[in-house]
Amino acid sequence: MARKGKVLIDRDMCKGCYLCVRACPVKVLEADTNPNSTGTYPSSAAHIEKCIACGNCYQVCPDVCIEVYELEGDEA
Ligand code: SF4
Ligand code: SF4
Repeated sequence: MARKGKVLIDRDMCKGCYLCVRACPVKVLEADTNPNSTGTYPSSAAHIEKCIACGNCYQVCPDVCIEVYELEGDEA
């Protein structure tokens, strides 16, 4: 069974560089349509159901805004 993941993004820490958007192999992440408290449109897990918990987004974020969790079984 394919791995399933969950990502948590700190919206207010995100500076909108979108390195994570480019690094995601399955296109989970997109720029949010709502700005954060600094007026930046942060990265958002728009298609979280596709996440495979590879950790690429976590690894590329220069500001450590992203946490990745691997889900067990049918957890969602
Ligand atoms: S890499 Fe980090 S700072 Fe850049 S858009 Fe993604 S979450 Fe935001
Ligand atoms: S953990 Fe991998 S698949 Fe999931 S959002 Fe991050 S880069 Fe994409």
